[in-house]
Amino acid sequence: MNVADSQRVDSALEQLGYVPTLQPEQADIIILNTCVVRQSAEDKAYGRLTSLRPVKEKNPQVIINLMGCLVGVKDNPGLLKRFPYVDVLSPPSDPRPLLNFLAQREGRQIEGAETLERFALMDGELILPSNGKEKPVCGFIPAVYGCSYACTYCIIPYRRGAEQSRPPKEILNEAHSMVRQGVKEITLLGQIIDRYGKDRPGYPDLSGLLRQLHEIDGLQRIRFLTSHPNYINDELLDCVAELPKVMPHIEVPIQSGDDQVLANMKRGYTVEQYRRLIERIRAHIPNVYIANDIIVGFPGETEAQFQNTAALVAELKLDVAHLARYSPRPGTVSERRMADDVPAEEKKRRFRVLEELQTGISAGINAQYLGQTVEVLFEEKSRQRWKGRTPQNKLVFVETEQDLRGKILPVRITWTGPWTMIGEPA
Ligand code: SAM
Repeated sequence: MNVADSQRVDSALEQLGYVPTLQPEQADIIILNTCVVRQSAEDKAYGRLTSLRPVKEKNPQVIINLMGCLVGVKDNPGLLKRFPYVDVLSPPSDPRPLLNFLAQREGRQIEGAETLERFALMDGELILPSNGKEKPVCGFIPAVYGCSYACTYCIIPYRRGAEQSRPPKEILNEAHSMVRQGVKEITLLGQIIDRYGKDRPGYPDLSGLLRQLHEIDGLQRIRFLTSHPNYINDELLDCVAELPKVMPHIEVPIQSGDDQVLANMKRGYTVEQYRRLIERIRAHIPNVYIANDIIVGFPGETEAQFQNTAALVAELKLDVAHLARYSPRPGTVSERRMADDVPAEEKKRRFRVLEELQTGISAGINAQYLGQTVEVLFEEKSRQRWKGRTPQNKLVFVETEQDLRGKILPVRITWTGPWTMIGEPA
């Protein structure tokens, strides 16, 4: 989501004539887009922000824009007190404060203001930033902003605000405009993407939206994330199975493999329901890739409860598990009402146990591709090798002098590891 948000600001600035640089000392505007989902991310943001102070002292003209979840959707005057050298605060997904600041500063006339308004409203005519390089092959489109679900550990609803589906026309316009600029794959984004349209009468649901996207000529692949176990329905699974452009790729976090912990997290489902969901997904979509998120060390998580999670990971054998150590977030229910009582060292140990388990599972799944031919969409060249993904989201590297950008080609897999594969053009 932050990549998509940054891309939108980038796009607006490039259209105003700015060019990108990665050197803060050379910049006229520095934008720090932040995540606070865990304390480690928040600390990183503070670290970067602090490192910008000498840059501002040396060059007082530089505009420093702090964006994203560190700012949040509510007024946050404390931030400006703490970091007085920040010029503009922008909530997540909202470039307007920066664009308005620039308009005021540069005294732009009405034409400029209209342009700014157009970007700010994000009416769909997104010009992809080139970043001085070639345009991207894969694009991200936010379909649902914010989140109204109340997982007890999660800060996102507080910082990104209430759930809000974007109008389908806006999403489709944006997709058309991306495809015109060479994008081959689009990923729809939302904290609970399968809730798309549920907050807006008259909007299609996610299946309806996917069917409309599927009609776009030139668009080759469609993905969506993240799903919630309570909102994936059979219609959606049928849609993924039926529509050739929708990839067999589901991201559906369980968070814990223990019913009591799930209840404490207020996730709204049991382990058995999740187990049955995985069976249903696999029955509907052949060769499906399923990714999972898990938090270890949630308040009160006992060794036995953790072992339930480990046993479930071993049983379900999903493709990937995004692991996190529980981090109390300010203002959340778990932070206010539950003691963070699993020691840091123990959280690390549990993390490592699951990491090792999942690495073995992922390596085993990927090894089945050895010698097989898979369709790879190539995205970019990285250190002499072309990087691309299979329909199942597996990262594949191919060494070749040919320009493979944006091409979908059959690749014979010659080496596999838990996270990547190597192949040669078939
Ligand atoms: N909306 C998705 C969901 O409902 O699962 C994912 C959102 S979040 C950006 C990505 C992951 O961060 C979550 O799935 C969860 O595993 C992790 N996460 C969120 N809050 C956390 C916390 N307080 N401590 C540790 N991990 C957390």
